[in-house]
Amino acid sequence: MPYVVRNRLLFGDIKAAAEVLQKGSAEVTHVLSLLSSASISFFSGWRPDISIPTQNIKEVYAGADGSWRKSLTPGKLLYSLEHAGPELKLVRMGVPLRDTEDEDLLDYLDVCLDFIDQGRKEGSVLVHCFAGVSRSAAVITAYLMKTEQKSLEDALESLREVCDVVSPNDGFLDQLSLFEEMGFKVDTESPIYKRFRLKVLGHSYKQGEKLDSSVFGADPGLPADSIPSEGIKGDQHTAYRCKKCRRVVALQENVVSHVPGEGETCFDWQKRKNNNRTNRFQDQDCSSLFVEPLKWMTSVEEGAMEGKLSCIHCVSRLGYFNWSGIQCSCGSWITPAFQIHKSKIDISRV
Ligand SMILES: [Zn+2]
Ligand SMILES: [Zn+2]
Repeated sequence: MPYVVRNRLLFGDIKAAAEVLQKGSAEVTHVLSLLSSASISFFSGWRPDISIPTQNIKEVYAGADGSWRKSLTPGKLLYSLEHAGPELKLVRMGVPLRDTEDEDLLDYLDVCLDFIDQGRKEGSVLVHCFAGVSRSAAVITAYLMKTEQKSLEDALESLREVCDVVSPNDGFLDQLSLFEEMGFKVDTESPIYKRFRLKVLGHSYKQGEKLDSSVFGADPGLPADSIPSEGIKGDQHTAYRCKKCRRVVALQENVVSHVPGEGETCFDWQKRKNNNRTNRFQDQDCSSLFVEPLKWMTSVEEGAMEGKLSCIHCVSRLGYFNWSGIQCSCGSWITPAFQIHKSKIDISRV
């Protein structure tokens, strides 16, 4: 039996979903499936006697909108949408999400929350995963946070009143607290998201994934039409130029900020550390700038763990990169790190 979380919003496991998808439902019109595969064949893989008719509506892949800023590898399936069940009366969205701590939940949240919104306008939505404990609970928690402006803790507590076994994994909880810090949205421009994205890239690198320039930021030294349309705004007109040849090597929007002297400041899958903070370097200015990997950093694309970053125009040394991290002069560890020495660049307005 699915649990009723709110009016027109239900929550369950694969059994509850299979029942609805096979027999139809007087109430449910939309099904959001959060399983390791988005395909309907997951159900017959689970129980071979299950057969659910479907008709494809569309499949959407990461990067289709040119949004390299997201953490998902371009070309990875973001979601599939189909008509399903008896007389194809249901609308099912399949989102490929694994229940692991290192899974990227944040990048799927927008599409999931939009689907729930839409489904509740047109009927009722069943959100389900395999066990109805972690993945679906995480997405519904995010939905309650956003629509009811609740803190992570309050939203989770509210969901537990409906079903007390819910327990999103620790990686999801960390990402939900980032979601809260970003104001109940996934803001790819915020330093919080940029640190998260770097961490995801670092994880992919350590898993042996080949990271090509499709996941790197646009080269700010090239003409402006190659810079993503979300572009430059507000106080982000600052550009950093190679001191020797004046080529632009980074814009303010490429900078991944850190709090001086905070130890490991990058997004941590585990609990953020708050102990033994060193204040020794706190008063010094950081001697380096840390940025997103950018398309001019050809040495990064070659695949090494660490190496030099040289200006693509005059080849003078600008800094270092290291997927395992670099310690800033202020004492903070930035992981992974794409570091440019401030002494090698000039600040200017675009
Ligand atoms: Zn620093
Ligand atoms: Zn140069």
